[in-house]
Amino acid sequence: MGQDILVVAELKDGQPKTAVRELLTAARRLADALGGQPRAVALGPGAASAAGELAAWGAASVLTADEAPSGGLRAVRVLAAAVAQIQPAAVLLSVNAFSRDVAARLAARTNGALASDCTGLNVAEGKLQVVRPVCAGRAILTAHPSAAGPLVATLRANSIGAEAPAAPGAGTVSALAVPADPADARVSLKETIATKSERPELTEAAVVVSGGRSLGSADAFKTIYELADAFGAAPGASRAAVDAGYAPHAMQVGQTGKTVSPALYVACGISGAIQHLAGMRTSKYIVAINKDPNAPIFKLADFGIVGDLFEVCPALTAEVKKAKTS
Ligand SMILES: Cc1cc2nc3c(=O)[nH]c(=O)nc-3n(C[C@H](O)[C@H](O)[C@H](O)COP(=O)(O)OP(=O)(O)OC[C@H]3O[C@@H](n4cnc5c(N)ncnc54)[C@H](O)[C@@H]3O)c2cc1C
Repeated sequence: MGQDILVVAELKDGQPKTAVRELLTAARRLADALGGQPRAVALGPGAASAAGELAAWGAASVLTADEAPSGGLRAVRVLAAAVAQIQPAAVLLSVNAFSRDVAARLAARTNGALASDCTGLNVAEGKLQVVRPVCAGRAILTAHPSAAGPLVATLRANSIGAEAPAAPGAGTVSALAVPADPADARVSLKETIATKSERPELTEAAVVVSGGRSLGSADAFKTIYELADAFGAAPGASRAAVDAGYAPHAMQVGQTGKTVSPALYVACGISGAIQHLAGMRTSKYIVAINKDPNAPIFKLADFGIVGDLFEVCPALTAEVKKAKTS
């Protein structure tokens, strides 16, 4: 393996997803430290036209696979071909459903090492180093993964932040043609149902406002949506709220839901069970609103408000709106 860092650039509507900028920021820093180059592979329709944006964020070269995603096995085959061509020291993906499907397979296919759900990626003593929460976030592991193949790392959104490069990369573009293999059809993607929302994507949002079982109904969740909209935030929910049918599963934060790491996480009427904390404890600032002063969430919160969320949230919503217009 060489010293380059390969970013897997997922596309949405033909454009790199927001989190790709953060991956390229990490790739630039790692490649600088190792003496290699940040490179990207763009997957999906419109890949070639996304290359400009990837170069603007520092990619020295971009491989494009312009095919509609047809399932995880096919994606792994395409990514393994990119690895074979570039021989990177590491392959970076965002933490999401796609990487959960492909990252481990890619590591196995390329004789690499897998580090999932990282919150930090560094070079220490000349070697790649990963930082990741373990034991549901109660401990932080720092490790130097080592394998014959590349490190395949998934990075939690908002962990390191996106920083534009001083100068764009060369962004030379070449198409990656990978022959179809019938074996990949064992798993095929039947349909993607996109949720139409003006709100930011939960795993990428800079601010998340979540509600718990205490909301008591799906109707009452409008208290959460109003505060989220005032902040321009993504709404989230605890599992208890999802299980009760107050919010869709796509909003669940936690061990069996989504992992978020926003700059600000507002937990409204959420007790702070370990499984919920596992999905949000790396948020930069945590605000908890709970009427029980002994709720476990207050042990983790940077700011705590003891009170009834049905009074506190509307008051906060009004203040946030006021602050935005003043
Ligand atoms: C294997 C496993 C996986 C799990 N995965 C997840 C997961 O991914 N995500 C997750 O969230 N949970 C998960 N759980 C469930 C978890 O253990 C908790 O049951 C759940 O997080 C509790 O949700 P909650 O805080 O909304 O509800 P509760 O624990 O019932 O807490 C409600 C809180 O609201 C407060 N409250 C009540 N009324 C008000 C009010 N009017 N104003 C202000 N505060 C009020 C109460 O004081 C209380 O602290 C998992 C559990 C298991 C066993």
